[in-house]
Amino acid sequence: MKKALTFALITVMSFFLISCGADVPAETTAHVHSYASEVTKNATCTEDGVTTFTCSCGEIYTEVIEAMGHSWGEWAEKTAASFVADGVEAMACANCGEEQTRALDQKPLKVLFIGNSFAVDTTDHAPRMAKELGVKEMKFGVLYIGGCSINKHYANMIGKKADYTYYLSRGGAWTTTEGYSVQRAIEEDDWDYICIQHGTGDGSRYTQSTSYANLGRLVKLVKQAAGDRAIIAFNMAWVMEPDSTHKEMQSYGGDQLKMYENLTATTQSCVATVEGIDIVIPTGTTVQNARTVVKRLLTRDKFHLSKDLGRYMAAMTMLEAMCGIETDGLTWRASGVSAADLEIAKKAVNSAIAEPYKITQQ
Ligand SMILES: [Zn+2]
Ligand SMILES: [Zn+2]
Repeated sequence: MKKALTFALITVMSFFLISCGADVPAETTAHVHSYASEVTKNATCTEDGVTTFTCSCGEIYTEVIEAMGHSWGEWAEKTAASFVADGVEAMACANCGEEQTRALDQKPLKVLFIGNSFAVDTTDHAPRMAKELGVKEMKFGVLYIGGCSINKHYANMIGKKADYTYYLSRGGAWTTTEGYSVQRAIEEDDWDYICIQHGTGDGSRYTQSTSYANLGRLVKLVKQAAGDRAIIAFNMAWVMEPDSTHKEMQSYGGDQLKMYENLTATTQSCVATVEGIDIVIPTGTTVQNARTVVKRLLTRDKFHLSKDLGRYMAAMTMLEAMCGIETDGLTWRASGVSAADLEIAKKAVNSAIAEPYKITQQ
């Protein structure tokens, strides 16, 4: 007990002596840290940074700078979706440039023909062929009146005549409905392509004042009904066999090449020049190209295309020339189309697209 008291007393006395000392040096006042700060690691979008605080006495501490997080912009199309492949859209960070991507669904293909039996020939194999080329969703519509000319299509539109048979395929079998008007078919969907089909009379009489006099007005009416979305095409048909008894061939005295020359000349002067026609499908040239090597007839009645190679080539020409679907990779063959025919078809189609109004020796 006594020992403890003595210790307390010494402690108190010591304190008194120091506090009251006459010459207390300034250096002994308490040191107050004064820190300089420096960012020693920058924060990024995804990683924290560090600020380091240093005092002259050597004391150091750090603070975390929180990661900034990405600063994403808007989604923007990088690769457009096509009829056969998904597209890509991307979004980039304004800070670090990192990119996120996501798929854009491939587009459904929607094609409408305002036509006749030549339109049926051209589209018959198209749904199956399109599927084989990678189109997942599709709609092919064909407005049909036998032998229907441009002038008659025009009069039908003016009169809103429900005189057409309407063939429709959504990738499978064709269905048939009677009593359609052009307006009704156009209004039933947002068509990617609307293709106008001329008849044989239009194709071989070849004067703007008669056969194609109303083509510009017809195109205008179609565009009014369809809106801006649809691309307007014209399918240049093929010429018949030299020994066809059809009166149009008779007027050429059985000269198939003369008929073809007239067809291409008027297509260039009276069709391709019409405002609003975006694409001319050179089906007639594909057929004529193939005729330079194929010995059998490509027509079934010297006039309409054969159901095998004739129709097959027409569908190929239409899908590639109008819809922009590359057909070089096609391996599917319609019944009656041989492996050799497939190669002939590809060459005839490619040549026709490269030279739409000229026969190319295959
Ligand atoms: Zn300090
Ligand atoms: Zn970023």
